[in-house]
Amino acid sequence: MIAARIDGKEFAARVREEVAQGVKDLQASHGVTPGLAVVSVGEDPASQVYVRNKLKYTKACGMNSFHRALDADTSRRSLLLLIESLNKDPAVHGILVQLPLPAHLDSRDVIQTIDCSKDVDGFHTSNVGDLWTSGKPFIPCTPLGCLMLLKSVEPNITGKNAVVIGRSNIVGRPMAALLLNESATVTIAHSNTKDLPAICRQADILVAAVGRPQMIKADWIKPGAIILDVGINRIETPDGRGRLVGDVDFEDVSTVAGAITPVPGGPGPMTIACLLANTLEAAKRAVS
Ligand code: NDP
Repeated sequence: MIAARIDGKEFAARVREEVAQGVKDLQASHGVTPGLAVVSVGEDPASQVYVRNKLKYTKACGMNSFHRALDADTSRRSLLLLIESLNKDPAVHGILVQLPLPAHLDSRDVIQTIDCSKDVDGFHTSNVGDLWTSGKPFIPCTPLGCLMLLKSVEPNITGKNAVVIGRSNIVGRPMAALLLNESATVTIAHSNTKDLPAICRQADILVAAVGRPQMIKADWIKPGAIILDVGINRIETPDGRGRLVGDVDFEDVSTVAGAITPVPGGPGPMTIACLLANTLEAAKRAVS
């Protein structure tokens, strides 16, 4: 079997087009332009790339974007005051604090300061609680993007065995909640899980959010399974330039799986597209 390739890049472009149309509709119906505020602290190079891309795509789909860049030694008090002012700003519908924060700032504490109706990352405990109790949360962008990609190849998730490897607050846990809400039977694996390959072999749907390059091999995979590879890892190459790979050994696993996301070009592009969709949704809720 050679797995179908699930194209996150193409799917994300379609989501961004839909968001751009939604922005035009909201402007026409209510005279409101959705606005996303991105707060960054310090100069982590990877974060700077992510922030630049978020701002670029926000503008490209017709929304307002506001970047508030703070120094690495910014105090907790200054950061919380900034978030409180963004909470009150009617031009700002979504607020995102770029993670990770410098060590002296507690990300949980900072995220709890965001007005949960503007928490377009879906990390505030109010949104987390809504996700687990079937409320109407903002869903964290990476798992939301994964669910969209999954449904594009398998609309009926009910009763499927799903294994999520990783239990972080930004990927693994919300992914498991989403799959549970779709009535899958969900197993969450982590670094203490015993005999991970055997657990993965039970999976009709396997989500890898680990951060270990090409850890998952073909003999871990049930024939025909759908594989969503969230991992983004840089590996060395002989030419010294390096390249990005996922947590799944794409070539090997493609010989057994039914469908698989590549890295790059899988869940990655969907993350920003879903952030834009959440920001549009926040603006719609603000006017309704
Ligand atoms: P974390 O480091 O927060 O979590 C990793 C999880 O993997 C932990 O739960 C950890 O277990 C588990 N784990 C680590 N080693 C093993 C192992 N050998 N066997 C089983 N489980 C293991 O990472 P994130 O969730 O933030 O990110 C995961 C990956 O996804 C990274 O590569 C990251 O770059 C990528 N990512 C991609 C995004 C995108 O847009 N596509 C967005 C966010 C992340 P334990 O809890 O026991 O430590």
